[in-house]
Amino acid sequence: MIKVTGLVKNFGDNEVLKGIDLSIDKSEVVVIMGPSGSGKSTLLRCLNFLEEPTEGLIQVGDYEVKAGGKIDRHRKKVIRELRKKTGFVFQSFNLFPHKKAIENVMEGPIAIHGKGPVEAKAIAVELLAKVGLADRADHYPAQLSGGQQQRVAIARSLALDPLVMLFDEPTSALDPELVREVLLVIKSLAEEGMTLVIVTHEMNFAKEVADRVVFMDEGIIVEQGTSQQIFEHPKEDRTKQFLSKVE
Ligand code: ADP
Ligand code: MG
Repeated sequence: MIKVTGLVKNFGDNEVLKGIDLSIDKSEVVVIMGPSGSGKSTLLRCLNFLEEPTEGLIQVGDYEVKAGGKIDRHRKKVIRELRKKTGFVFQSFNLFPHKKAIENVMEGPIAIHGKGPVEAKAIAVELLAKVGLADRADHYPAQLSGGQQQRVAIARSLALDPLVMLFDEPTSALDPELVREVLLVIKSLAEEGMTLVIVTHEMNFAKEVADRVVFMDEGIIVEQGTSQQIFEHPKEDRTKQFLSKVE
């Protein structure tokens, strides 16, 4: 489903990703953990070409883009298609503030998939129900709690019918009492068999949903395995050190 080969990302002289290889199967739930600054967000952003990789190959479904390739129309088109197939949920919810919840969810199907308003609305109604917000469709973001806004953001991503959903610390901007409702929605996607890549520090959540936990530090994958392997029997000192701090 997703394959990253030899991914390197530099910002100036700062080599932030130092050769990442990662394959993710269909329906797999992968949780990425690691200290702040280790390159987790950059990895997700490169997967989606929100950042242009310096070196390496990114494959998502049938789309394949090589870093440093000639920037021509064909490449731009492939990147556009690849982006449509990868939903991205950020730490900050990034909703359109002047649009109602339902309009936020309808936007993608209309603007990107060219659907008419009736069909787009039907999609949005269904997805808002799925994230438990059927009764908030006509609320504006400012009238919703952070947890509700993040659930709208998830519905908005799902509206593009992605092959994979990427979550970058989806609950770290939320008050503690709102974290659970967002994690439950993500968990329900996992149970439906959606392919998920989730950067999070929520260890209990990782234990519940992750098929695989990937531990990153300083731009490399230090180790990976089941949550049991990583949390209970970490092999690498860096992993042990990190876990002793977050627990
Ligand atoms: P994490 O998500 O694990 O906290 P990031 O991927 O955000 O780590 O950042 C990794 C490193 O890349 C940091 O040193 C950060 O300063 C640097 N970095 C991230 N984005 C940019 C950018 N747009 N320009 C320059 N440096 C960046
Ligand atoms: Mg980050």
